[in-house]
Amino acid sequence: MNSSYDLIVIGAGMAGIAAANKGASTGWRVAIVDSLPYGGTCALRGCDPKKILRRGAEIIDSARLMRGKGIDEAGLSINWMDLIKHKHGFTDPVPRRMETNLRSNGVDTLHGHAQFTGPNEIDIDGTGYTADRFLIATGARPRPLKFSGHEHVIDSTGFLELPALPDRILFVGGGFVSFEFAHIVARAGSSAVIVDRGPRPLKGFDADLVELLVARGQEVGIVLRRSTDITAITKNDQGYVVTVERDGTIETIETDLVVHGAGRVAELDTLHLDAAGVEWSTQGVAVSSHLQSTTNAAVWAAGDSADTRGMPLTPVAVFEAKVAASNMIKGTTTVPDYSGIPTAVFTIPELARVGLLESEAKEQGIDVKVRYSDTSSWYSNFRVGESTAAVKILIDRSNDRIVGAHLLGPEYGELVNTFGLAIKLGLTTRQLKSATAAYPTVGSDLGSLL
Ligand SMILES: Cc1cc2nc3c(=O)[nH]c(=O)nc-3n(C[C@H](O)[C@H](O)[C@H](O)COP(=O)(O)OP(=O)(O)OC[C@H]3O[C@@H](n4cnc5c(N)ncnc54)[C@H](O)[C@@H]3O)c2cc1C
Repeated sequence: MNSSYDLIVIGAGMAGIAAANKGASTGWRVAIVDSLPYGGTCALRGCDPKKILRRGAEIIDSARLMRGKGIDEAGLSINWMDLIKHKHGFTDPVPRRMETNLRSNGVDTLHGHAQFTGPNEIDIDGTGYTADRFLIATGARPRPLKFSGHEHVIDSTGFLELPALPDRILFVGGGFVSFEFAHIVARAGSSAVIVDRGPRPLKGFDADLVELLVARGQEVGIVLRRSTDITAITKNDQGYVVTVERDGTIETIETDLVVHGAGRVAELDTLHLDAAGVEWSTQGVAVSSHLQSTTNAAVWAAGDSADTRGMPLTPVAVFEAKVAASNMIKGTTTVPDYSGIPTAVFTIPELARVGLLESEAKEQGIDVKVRYSDTSSWYSNFRVGESTAAVKILIDRSNDRIVGAHLLGPEYGELVNTFGLAIKLGLTTRQLKSATAAYPTVGSDLGSLL
């Protein structure tokens, strides 16, 4: 028998949960559905578990940096299985907690695979449901790989569940997932190779800082193969043989494990969007600036499954979902504000960005002042023994406002948030310099960076 709702949310990740709660808080009859345990990618298979595993690597690295400076790190090692158990201590309770919370807010929680059967109808594992509105918040999945033997590659979810780390790990693609995982495994004693098809990895980040990070990675044994295509993977008794091609030269790399870090596409293929007349692509559901489907007014989208200007990040997913829900409730009035959203690559040290790249600022015709600081010898980094750290701040000369901030160094994933706030609020460097930070903290370096 059909059940009818004001709103059905498809996908119980960060976007879906935020929208479902907002809809229910207005008194709407709301249902949410997921084919997997509730919580989505970030809490169960992405940001949170990854950063727990990184904690082990941080400790090893921090101790090594203090070698000869009062710390004897000999014998310190990562017990991978224990670290994985520690991760489960966080992830295991998530689905039940999230579902209980949704129910207590009055949301009906459903389980199964949703697919559209009409403009206002979906099927969930054989049961039909109708709704006045739908929010598609189905997230993303690893980009399909084309080379032969791609079935031997494990994805990020598989990596985060590994019971043990093999000696040799190869990462496909030079994006943030490959870099973050490579920095973890290198500190856990495995060798890491990143194979990137382009000449420079981490393309969304400042090129100068990326090169410093690559060099720092080399110091801990991470090998980056640039401009290199993987053409095939075969399995043998020892592990895998990865065939690569660079400038017409073919080579093979032997490894024990191959991990997908080559980007993600919107998870929409099995939603039967054509049945609902919803336009979409691998970038996501085609939406207006208010996040409503361009072809079906009953359908909205947010997060990784929406084709928006927003980056595929958790905070973006959450605020897009809130904007979409608010527009459904109040009428199409709000557009998401994408200014000042920071993003970080949790390598060791971490690389962060907010606002424009130098090239983007120039393309936009901004008369930009570039303040580059090698902060490796600054007190904050001297204290912890880190010798790779730098910051690039882009300032609009016409109004003294920050238009971009790029940071590589310990704790700079925190520091970038202040620059994000400054960009969002349009603060001038003069205003920022007038703030006083607790001393000595990394935040107290901020004034000297401007
Ligand atoms: C390894 C990794 C690390 C990351 N690290 C960070 C980070 O440090 N910081 C950051 O901001 N972002 C990070 N991200 C990105 C972040 O996880 C995503 O941007 C965010 O989770 C998107 O949220 P969402 O709600 O749009 O989708 P998701 O959280 O992916 O949720 C979508 C849900 O929809 C469900 N679903 C899909 N199709 C159907 C269907 N047909 N029927 C029923 N259910 C369906 C899925 O099972 C899933 O639970 C990381 C991603 C990965 C993979």
